[in-house]
Amino acid sequence: MTEITPIRLARLTTLRTGGAPARMIDATTSAELVDALRAVWADGDPWLVLGGGSNLFVGDEPYDGTVVRVRTQGIERMPSPRPGIVRLRVQAGHDWDALVEFAVAEGLAGIEAMSGIPGTVGAAPVQNIGAYGQEIVQTLVEVELIDESTGEVSVVPADELGLGFRTSALKHHHGSAPARRAVILTATLDLAEVGHDERPIAGEQLRTALGLGPGDGVSVSWIRDHVIATRRRKGMVLDDDDPDTYSAGSFFQNAVVSASFSRTLPPECPRWPVKPDLDPVLVIPLAAFDGYVPPPVAVESDVKVSAAWLIEHSGLRKGFKLPRSRAALSSKHALALTNRGNATSGEIAELARFIQGRVQAEFGLVLQPEPVLVNVEL
Ligand SMILES: Cc1cc2nc3c(=O)[nH]c(=O)nc-3n(C[C@H](O)[C@H](O)[C@H](O)COP(=O)(O)OP(=O)(O)OC[C@H]3O[C@@H](n4cnc5c(N)ncnc54)[C@H](O)[C@@H]3O)c2cc1C
Repeated sequence: MTEITPIRLARLTTLRTGGAPARMIDATTSAELVDALRAVWADGDPWLVLGGGSNLFVGDEPYDGTVVRVRTQGIERMPSPRPGIVRLRVQAGHDWDALVEFAVAEGLAGIEAMSGIPGTVGAAPVQNIGAYGQEIVQTLVEVELIDESTGEVSVVPADELGLGFRTSALKHHHGSAPARRAVILTATLDLAEVGHDERPIAGEQLRTALGLGPGDGVSVSWIRDHVIATRRRKGMVLDDDDPDTYSAGSFFQNAVVSASFSRTLPPECPRWPVKPDLDPVLVIPLAAFDGYVPPPVAVESDVKVSAAWLIEHSGLRKGFKLPRSRAALSSKHALALTNRGNATSGEIAELARFIQGRVQAEFGLVLQPEPVLVNVEL
């Protein structure tokens, strides 16, 4: 572990905002990462682990704490759990897209639709990254993590991480603390060995995005190439030459609302049912149990509605900016707030609040930010 001269976080985050921290440590091995975190936690100072800085909105005031940069690397093949499955254990600091590139080159399927998502493997479970119908929860087996409360390293199965739509127990949501303050050291994924042959794609969302019919066969590398090209058209891959990519990706989450509230929105607003709880647990106290188990009550599932549609239909076009501001909506994607050159965190926050206000006034709901906010308020 190496203590380095603190670097302004504006240079390390894709939204290009953020002041310098009081201390900065680079960890290039898992052991160094564990040592660094235990030392920082013993001091009791504020701390932040930093991967690729692509899901952070950081304030420009100096950060009075320690930033630990996760720079561990490596992909390891583990014993296969069953025929046709390849198990990979990947260090937290490994670049996510480099992992996807590796998997696709090996003919492994399961993460190819998430090609081009910036950031590190260790941050991927934090918000259960996803694109075009694929999410890391579908392939993640377990993570090795270190908890702040105990300082101990343990292996945690994926189903104990609370992975949901752009969330997990580890995510620091706007206005609330994470349920589990922990840092991922490695992530283990199971991928299907499909080779390089063409085969039909199961996911409708991915087929639609790539213009394919149910019977069309394509290879995993074809999917990767076409996903990256599609993302590039929307400014959703990092590209120094494209200011639309100086963002944190989607700044607002698609809103999850009750079915009854969704009926108050215009019918044209795109919406998707959130998976209903088909098997709710019914607890009947033993003393009250008379041998009859009532049938499950059908609960109307919540509805996820398109935040991009709400923004555009509240009168804000792609490329919108406030007068004299250097922050703007992406010219290609209404959900991305972009830094058009030296915008301050205040300018980004002002634009975000303006958008929230317009959507609330028009449709009656408050959009919530997707990136993790550090040292800044909305
Ligand atoms: C152009 C662009 C496109 C994007 N497209 C998508 C997309 O399609 N889908 C999607 O889901 N996301 C997308 N994102 C968001 C982002 O790429 C992902 O959330 C990514 O996983 C963040 O990784 P990172 O290493 O950059 O995390 P950082 O920004 O460095 O950190 C994000 C949070 O995770 C924490 N963290 C980092 N590493 C660890 C670790 N090892 N253990 C525990 N906590 C950790 C940090 O403390 C912070 O709270 C996009 C972003 C950009 C800029």
